[in-house]
Amino acid sequence: MLYYSSRSEKETCSAAQAIVKGLASDGGLFMPAEIPSVSQDFIQELLSLEYKERAVRILSLYLDEFTADELRNMAGEAYGPTFNEMGKNAPVRVLDDNTAVMELYHGPTCAFKDMALQIMPRLLVSSLRKTGEEREVCILVATSGDTGKAALEGFRDVPGTRIQVFYPEDGVSDVQKLQMRTQGGNNVSVCAVEGNFDDAQSGVKAIFSDREFAEKLHDRGFFLSSANSINWGRLLPQIVYYFSAYCDLVNAGSISFGDKLSFCVPTGNFGDILAGWYAKRMGLPVEKLICASNDNRVLTDFFQTGVYDRNRPFYQTSSPSMDILISSNLERQLSHLAGTEKVAQWMEELKSNGRFDVGDTVRGLLGEEYAAGCCNASDAAAEIALQWNDRSYLMDPHTAVASRVLREYRQRSGDNTTTVIVSTASPYKFCDSVLRALGEEVNVPGTELIHKLEEKTGWAAPAPLTGLKERTVRFSDVVAKDQMLNAVDHFLK
Ligand SMILES: *Cc1c(COP(=O)(O)O)cnc(C)c1O
Repeated sequence: MLYYSSRSEKETCSAAQAIVKGLASDGGLFMPAEIPSVSQDFIQELLSLEYKERAVRILSLYLDEFTADELRNMAGEAYGPTFNEMGKNAPVRVLDDNTAVMELYHGPTCAFKDMALQIMPRLLVSSLRKTGEEREVCILVATSGDTGKAALEGFRDVPGTRIQVFYPEDGVSDVQKLQMRTQGGNNVSVCAVEGNFDDAQSGVKAIFSDREFAEKLHDRGFFLSSANSINWGRLLPQIVYYFSAYCDLVNAGSISFGDKLSFCVPTGNFGDILAGWYAKRMGLPVEKLICASNDNRVLTDFFQTGVYDRNRPFYQTSSPSMDILISSNLERQLSHLAGTEKVAQWMEELKSNGRFDVGDTVRGLLGEEYAAGCCNASDAAAEIALQWNDRSYLMDPHTAVASRVLREYRQRSGDNTTTVIVSTASPYKFCDSVLRALGEEVNVPGTELIHKLEEKTGWAAPAPLTGLKERTVRFSDVVAKDQMLNAVDHFLK
């Protein structure tokens, strides 16, 4: 299957090449030239399969350079023992007659990014081999929390790879910091940076564009790459869980085979929800994809008006992984609907003016597939309390945003299609916000709160988080921004 850039159909490549390159040379994102469609029989066959086998069936459709056995090995490793609910990597819980929650946080770092980052390193290594690359890859990541840890766990001890993560010293939660400082694995490095997330990110970007340094690393047999959510190897594995949720709800008798299902997705970079759109286009019976935002409501406004405008205040909220003003993966969606030429122009406008207008036709097309809404932090907190009091179900602040947006969407539209709320993080990753939402006082460090939340709710905390305090800190380096390159140089000696 061919892939091309979202900004031009001229640059084409194979899936393996797209995964190795990450970003097209014109700055666009790689997308499949054709979206494969599946039959009812194909979906019917998925019903009786485990998650990892469902993954093999779906990934095969997009990755014709990989044999089913190769994919089966990768999926077996990725979705095996590191998940604490084996066989059900994305379990679906029914909340009421027409609402369910798909929990994507049972991986090793308790965040949905594990769903892609457990398999992406394996796809990358295999792609490197297929494209004839012999050097060892070193992944560099600047993180504001979740991505860094999930990437570390994904790449840990994967042969032929190394990974180094930079996080802002004062910009991640106590739990996130401890998760990274105690990281295991023989090919990993973690480093705090003096400054904020932007400092860490611009430091990493500067290292990537340093040609002299790249040559030095080349001579040592290394090259640098990233594990961004714009890489096709991260988006593709996310399509699987939309099919998986559908199958699980058919199996549970909550819907009949052939019925339509909607999904409500807490959204930041637009990767998660876009994977749902691919599933819909492939033939999964999906009614609406509901895009939920927090106070950073750039997407809600976009779906309403057709104008994407990043010129607005940035809010730090209780759902930090959705605190985003540029939703990179939206570019893929627009390119599928409006073509590469228009997208190239809009991205140019976004770069120079911070805004673009897709016009009424494209806005109409989007409206057929998506609904959108937003929710502020205090409404999200109220939603956590409401779900806990009414249904004894515990949600993290990101999931609560989606839950609240769904409630308002239903009131507004009268659409009562059975809907799956996509749950993206364990509530135990955000103990302070969750405890406060439940009316508790919070006056001890984040790492002490896990036990408190367990006592309050009787919900067992996930194993990767309970053991955290006992683990040895392996990485305590703090570097100035201009010392980041030295840190990489030292790591790759
Ligand atoms: C990354 C993340 C999101 C946003 O997902 P996108 O694919 O960027 O839209 C939502 N919730 C959590 C907990 C996340 O880590």
